[in-house]
Amino acid sequence: MEKRDELYAGKAKSVYRTDDPQRLILHFRDDTSAFDGKKKESLARKGMVNNKFNAFIMEKLQAAGIPTHFEKLIADDECVVKNLEMIPVECVVRNVAAGGLVRRLGVEEGQALTPPTFELFLKDDAHGDPMINESLAETFGWATPEQLATMKALTFKVNDVLKQLFLDGGMLLVDYKLEFGLFDGEVMLGDEFSPDGCRLWDANTREKMDKDRFRQGLGGVIEAYEEVGRRIGITF
Ligand code: 5GP
Repeated sequence: MEKRDELYAGKAKSVYRTDDPQRLILHFRDDTSAFDGKKKESLARKGMVNNKFNAFIMEKLQAAGIPTHFEKLIADDECVVKNLEMIPVECVVRNVAAGGLVRRLGVEEGQALTPPTFELFLKDDAHGDPMINESLAETFGWATPEQLATMKALTFKVNDVLKQLFLDGGMLLVDYKLEFGLFDGEVMLGDEFSPDGCRLWDANTREKMDKDRFRQGLGGVIEAYEEVGRRIGITF
């Protein structure tokens, strides 16, 4: 497969066309950002760590019957994925109260959420990824009711697989964000799953092991990502 021109550069990944219009190459860069790009830094090894982390998780999800865009690793910081038509909606599941939920509702951080919550956000940096709902998504044509139902079911299926995987490594999957797209009309998981887009706490000490270390200036960001990976069996 031949790597062609850059299609899109996001805050942490760049996407390249290939000689196959149905396939793209994702390049995980060392860049990290938070607060709508207001805080930015380059962290050594981040691209490699997140690429390998994402590949491991996507393969676990595929093995559990969840369709994903992931095809194969081709370099330490690159992988091949299916070229999805992305649905501009972010799906968030929360098992424990933290982050935006605590800020928005004033509930206690760390309280267990039973059953886990499900929220939708519009992928729109210019408006700060506002919270939306199924009615708005349907009216504005961001996703159909059928696509939303599939995305919700798949997002909860991911929770069943990953909550247990991380718990086996002594960690709590606090919350996470997923993005989906269409390939031949089928809804598939796209984007990435890495400690950049989820919250993971040590189950005993509740130490943060995810991107909140960067957002909150706690340091040891990539060391924490590698520790998470090591605990679930990834070798970097
Ligand atoms: P919150 O709504 O608490 O800010 O985010 C909930 C979860 O979704 C967190 O795990 C957070 O990392 C993830 N998340 C939500 N929106 C984004 C986003 O635009 N980028 C990234 N990297 N993660 C996000």
